Amino acid sequence: MHRIWIPLVSILVMRAAFSSGPVCEADEKLALVRPDQRLPVIFLGDKESPAEKFAAQELKAHLQKMTGRDFKIIRWGGGEPSRMPAGTTKPQGVYIAIGHSELTASIDISGLGKEQYLIDVTPQRLIIVGGPDRLRGVLYGVYDVLEQLGVRWYRPEPWGEHVPREDSLTLPSGRTLAEPPDYEYRSTLGGGFQRYRQPTVEQSDQASLWSVRNRLNFDFEDEPRFGGRMAPGFDHIYYQLITVEEYFDQHPEYFCLYKGKRRRVNPDDAVRPSNPTGLQLCLSNPGLQELFAEKIIARAKHRVNLDSVTFSISPNDACPFCECAECRSMDDPADPESMSNRVCAFSNIVARQVARAVPGARLSLQAYSAWTKPPTIVDRIEPNIVIHLCLINQWADYTRKLNDAAPNWNLETRNAIARWKQLGVSAVYTYEYWSGYAWQGPLPLVRTMADRIRHYREFNIRGIYNESHPHWGPQGLDLYMCAKLLWNPDLNLDRELDRYYRNYYGPASAPMKSYHEALMGALDEHPHPVHSGGRGMHLIFTPQRVASLNRHIALATELVEDQPLYKRRLHGVIAGYRFAERVCEILKLKKRTGKEVEMPDWPGRGYYLHSDQAEREYTKLLQWVRSFSTGDAVFDIVPDPPHLWYLKEDILENAPLGFLGRESNLLKEF
Ligand SMILES: [Zn+2]
Repeated sequence: MHRIWIPLVSILVMRAAFSSGPVCEADEKLALVRPDQRLPVIFLGDKESPAEKFAAQELKAHLQKMTGRDFKIIRWGGGEPSRMPAGTTKPQGVYIAIGHSELTASIDISGLGKEQYLIDVTPQRLIIVGGPDRLRGVLYGVYDVLEQLGVRWYRPEPWGEHVPREDSLTLPSGRTLAEPPDYEYRSTLGGGFQRYRQPTVEQSDQASLWSVRNRLNFDFEDEPRFGGRMAPGFDHIYYQLITVEEYFDQHPEYFCLYKGKRRRVNPDDAVRPSNPTGLQLCLSNPGLQELFAEKIIARAKHRVNLDSVTFSISPNDACPFCECAECRSMDDPADPESMSNRVCAFSNIVARQVARAVPGARLSLQAYSAWTKPPTIVDRIEPNIVIHLCLINQWADYTRKLNDAAPNWNLETRNAIARWKQLGVSAVYTYEYWSGYAWQGPLPLVRTMADRIRHYREFNIRGIYNESHPHWGPQGLDLYMCAKLLWNPDLNLDRELDRYYRNYYGPASAPMKSYHEALMGALDEHPHPVHSGGRGMHLIFTPQRVASLNRHIALATELVEDQPLYKRRLHGVIAGYRFAERVCEILKLKKRTGKEVEMPDWPGRGYYLHSDQAEREYTKLLQWVRSFSTGDAVFDIVPDPPHLWYLKEDILENAPLGFLGRESNLLKEF
């Protein structure tokens, strides 16, 4: 994302990083608020759109919080007579105009897209307008101005906002045109305020606002005031479209041939809510192909705003594929484990039918599980298909840069991304796991996310979804910076981080900067992969590192002692540190008391240290994590959700992918 700033007194056109405000060479500026000056009125047109109205309300609310003074919103054309005497063509004094009205009619907005906006500042007035669709562009313009004035939304709750108190507010003169964002689809909080704990209505509303204010465009329910959202479908859809109940009796041939029989459900797999049949479909069957396409067409043909939606054509969650000869013949004999060729061939057939019936409708296909790799026989993907590339397990090592040339997991990922792009898809979206589904402690991914979000642009990646498990206490910095980077990949990271430490931690900013930077540095230097959901993070917390982090935490605690706001903000961060400290103690105990045991899934290849004492400490750790109230949303955790199994596997059974060998070798520093 860039913006172009056009200074008032010069014809120079500048491109500036989005986070930086325009610099006015002529030193002209708008004194928006001064103690000795009448407050500017915020004008709307007399037929404002819901997003324009909300934009004005947001501006008013924040200006009031900043200055403690009472701003007014008035409709130009139907407003207060004292401000608009008969014959007046413009307001008296300094004013603000939001959205389309007679006051902004001279500004040409015809070419602006739905997320673009224009900010025009002169010494007399501030104008903020979006594009002709009058959707969220204008709202984004208001948030840009508020950020220029120092406002930040770090956490969804009111105590997570940073709103500076000022007597005077000034803006440099000039015209800023926001270019369309690099990512058309931006999601940090895909699962909402929290995923496992039931948030209150208030928390959900706050999370929606947080997402809108940080210019994400997926993570909230559609409301007219938010100016629309992106709604790509990416669910596992086979079992939802072709149900066993409706079709199996008449057409068993549509269903999976598994162990010699067409089956309703997989007899070897427990029924999961996300995958009730435990099997895929018979993708080579022409009748099924036809029916599947009809189902998608029925969904697509009455939808408006086709550019904001995609219709999922994704297989069921990881489970067996059909074993019939026709399906088998769709696979690459050189790589029979990969299901990508049959999935893509089937998807292309469906996509061609949909394209004929509903031009403009886009379909989305998850590249996931046994169909993550790009196909090798199918050499083209229909252009109305968007790929959702799931970078789980060995598809992402967060300790290494995406473009790191040395052998590492990310090499294959990069090749896969490049290949998907070559296959002709209209866009690739990545599906990320930059959130702790497997790790509830600190997850220092800011620089990793910045690396990916910047470099993905070289590969036609047009959107990013983060499967979130919001542990707001330990991982709040990551959630915030993820949102910031998605909006502006060229963000000046060090400057924004410094601002975060200063604003969010106040008197404790210095030790907390040291704390976060030490964690990011540790991830960078870590010799083993750390991947999806934070798997592998536990080994970073060696006794030596924990002791060093403890010094920063102790100092920060002391510095906020008498300051309730900063104490509250620090509380969850410290809880994350304590979590890691306890994990370190468990690993020390394993090293001291554990007996080497063969890993059941990796006979002869993997060994872990079993210790009853360590298991008891692990149980205590879970009790401790669960003891946190939902009030301040520290950990996102309830008894026995699947992510706790991953934690157990990692710290008790040494099972995170890539850690084969002897656990005793991994615990040398413990
Ligand atoms: Zn089949």
